[in-house]
Amino acid sequence: MEAVTASASSFNRYPDMACTALMAELSERFAVPASHVATGTGSVGVAQQLLQATAGPGDEVIYAWRSFEAYPIITRISGATPVQVPLTPGDVHDLDAMAEAITDRTRLIFVCNPNNPTGTVVRRAELERFLDRVPSDVLVVLDEAYREFIRDTEVPDGVELYRQRPNVCVLRTFSKAYGLAGLRVGFAIAHEPVAAALRKTAVPFGVSQIAQDAAIASLRAEDELIGRVGSLVCERNRVTDALRDQGWTVPETQANFVWLRLGSARCRSRRRASRRVWSSGRSPGRVCG
Ligand SMILES: *Cc1c(COP(=O)(O)O)cnc(C)c1O
Repeated sequence: MEAVTASASSFNRYPDMACTALMAELSERFAVPASHVATGTGSVGVAQQLLQATAGPGDEVIYAWRSFEAYPIITRISGATPVQVPLTPGDVHDLDAMAEAITDRTRLIFVCNPNNPTGTVVRRAELERFLDRVPSDVLVVLDEAYREFIRDTEVPDGVELYRQRPNVCVLRTFSKAYGLAGLRVGFAIAHEPVAAALRKTAVPFGVSQIAQDAAIASLRAEDELIGRVGSLVCERNRVTDALRDQGWTVPETQANFVWLRLGSARCRSRRRASRRVWSSGRSPGRVCG
């Protein structure tokens, strides 16, 4: 908040277009070359740039479903065809099925780890086995928006996987654990051709100076981050246990939310309609279309 207030006094000026100070901070923190870091207007903004750079009409983009709701939207905006691979019955990415869905038209694959909205994770061995099956000219985007909340030690750090694999790109955000969602800043760590493509597709001056300054201040306030994330994880576990005690089926979550399986919207509207019938005594007619 202090960094934001200080920065706000100069919003008559354009921000640093290259996000130099933030890139330097990120490069040091993750021990990667600054040329391998690219910032954007939230990691959704960076994901959209990745699609802009890699995919267009006739190309295919693979991701799990249900997963992050932005994937189908930004894929269609790029003109590419979404290829949605259903989660396993346990609500986990079906990496074998995703590998089998690869064709010579596949350009990019999203792996959301932990997955939004189920909170489930893929672990090191299965993810490495999957990456071994992906052709080297297909970009695998490891979306780690909830990385800081992971407590399962078998979940690999995407940045370690990126080091050995030129076709792996890691997405991180300041919107979740860092609490800067409204400021719109996220970043990618990727090898040179990918990071360079991200710099070319960035909206000029997209990341405000307030966001850049706040992100740097947040990176330097790590103790507070660890404390905040720690108490959230305790609460997450308490809520998960309490829901299970009530009889809900809640998958193991490594994110900052729990997935309540309520059934499809169709079933819900049917239930609502039957409640209305119950209270009014009238027939609901056609409710599910
Ligand atoms: C929230 C979220 C993001 C990032 O959001 P931004 O605010 O655009 O950084 C990316 N991926 C997933 C899976 C998310 O849940």
